[in-house]
Amino acid sequence: MTRGPRGSGASWLHANGDRGTWPRTFYAEGLDLPAPHPPLKGRVTADLCVVGGGITGLSAALHGARAGMSVVLLEAQRVGWGASGRNGGQVGSGLNWGQEKLEARLGGPRARAVWNLCEDAKALTRRLIATHAPEADWRSGVLSVARGETSLGPMAEAAARMDRDYGTALEVLDRDALAARIGTRAYAGGVLDPTAGVVNPLAYALGLARACVAAGVTIHEGAEVHRIGDTVATAQGAVTARFVLHATNGYGAHLTGASAARVLPINNFIAVTEPLAAPPMATPLGVADDRFVVNYFHQTGDGRLVYGGGESYGRRFPTDIEARVRANLARVYPDLAGIRFDHAWGGTLAVTATRLPLLSEVRPGVFTAGGYSGHGLALSGLFGAVAVEAMRGDRARFDTLAALPVPALPGGRWLGGLMAQAGMVFGAVVDRVG
Ligand SMILES: Cc1cc2nc3c(=O)[nH]c(=O)nc-3n(C[C@H](O)[C@H](O)[C@H](O)COP(=O)(O)OP(=O)(O)OC[C@H]3O[C@@H](n4cnc5c(N)ncnc54)[C@H](O)[C@@H]3O)c2cc1C
Repeated sequence: MTRGPRGSGASWLHANGDRGTWPRTFYAEGLDLPAPHPPLKGRVTADLCVVGGGITGLSAALHGARAGMSVVLLEAQRVGWGASGRNGGQVGSGLNWGQEKLEARLGGPRARAVWNLCEDAKALTRRLIATHAPEADWRSGVLSVARGETSLGPMAEAAARMDRDYGTALEVLDRDALAARIGTRAYAGGVLDPTAGVVNPLAYALGLARACVAAGVTIHEGAEVHRIGDTVATAQGAVTARFVLHATNGYGAHLTGASAARVLPINNFIAVTEPLAAPPMATPLGVADDRFVVNYFHQTGDGRLVYGGGESYGRRFPTDIEARVRANLARVYPDLAGIRFDHAWGGTLAVTATRLPLLSEVRPGVFTAGGYSGHGLALSGLFGAVAVEAMRGDRARFDTLAALPVPALPGGRWLGGLMAQAGMVFGAVVDRVG
């Protein structure tokens, strides 16, 4: 059994107000938001108990139910309430590490196996959206952009290497070509990945939840888990299950020891402009820059910019989210410095010391997945599915992912968290001066 420190988990879940309902994001507008599922009351049994109703947990629940397992999913707030329903919407390729670095660390064959799994992750995401959440509106094309010539060179070389060795079809753009696509000369150039894409992440999560219910999953919302032990316990009930998936990412990392020691929650912020009279992109694309704390944005169908970036490391969001995002936006689109924002919100994600994701069997039958370090929108669906595969005895894909190097935060659980936060702050400062 693993317990968090008094109140630690509750703080990330409840620190910023929007208890029991989705934050007022651009993504929620126009969606048919479902009625709540009832909280857990009393004792129940199941083959699989999933803790956390983000994409990781919903995908696991769906795959488990389809495989014939009885599944109970416990979500403290509403399904898709966490990072899954409020992120930047970018479904990217690969991991935080480039393939060259992965090859050097893991060797060629293992690095290729990891790449193939990341391709599976993207394909699964597209399939799940096409089948269960077409309103998530997949749009292909994400640009990785370089702030300076010094980083564009290696970016272009890596792209050429990926095309040669992994069969990708990346397009390298110089400053002029990039400016023609996204309407700013702020970047030295970039690389367009036509297989990555942008979606409405809340629509994706809610579509998965509908599919879960149709497949027979019992979902309980307002069901905050306090302990994962012999049973999975909430204030009003408990689930006894043969298998448990701990899928709370940044909001409840303390619930298993492996996750508590390896996963660091951080906050990130997004603001959405009013519809622009002259939207800057000829064709809407996703964009992510090369900062340590990435700035990312995309243009919506109705001509707004969804602009994300900025970070904080305490539990409470700052009160000036709009101002933080505005400063970043103005660096890229100076003409929009005074634009009105119709939405601004924060969310909590999770990173690891190596910025590689964590998938682990904590003890027999209890699995944890998370720490996607900014790549979770693509990876979380796959990690949920692969955890279920392992529960059912097929450990091939699980073993590849579980072997990624994700050490405990140096300095132990508490000091490690502080040191890692200091490292993040240092990286963010380098971004600002760099
Ligand atoms: C602002 C922002 C922008 C981002 N942009 C991108 C992006 O563009 N691309 C990308 O790939 N990734 C992005 N991410 C990261 C991505 O959203 C996450 O990696 C991913 O959604 C994680 O999914 P999850 O299901 O593991 O966790 P979450 O979606 O966070 O779900 C965890 C769920 O667990 C629930 N929970 C927590 N504690 C308990 C408990 N004790 N009991 C029961 N339930 C509990 C929470 O309420 C929550 O619903 C972004 C994240 C943020 C915050």
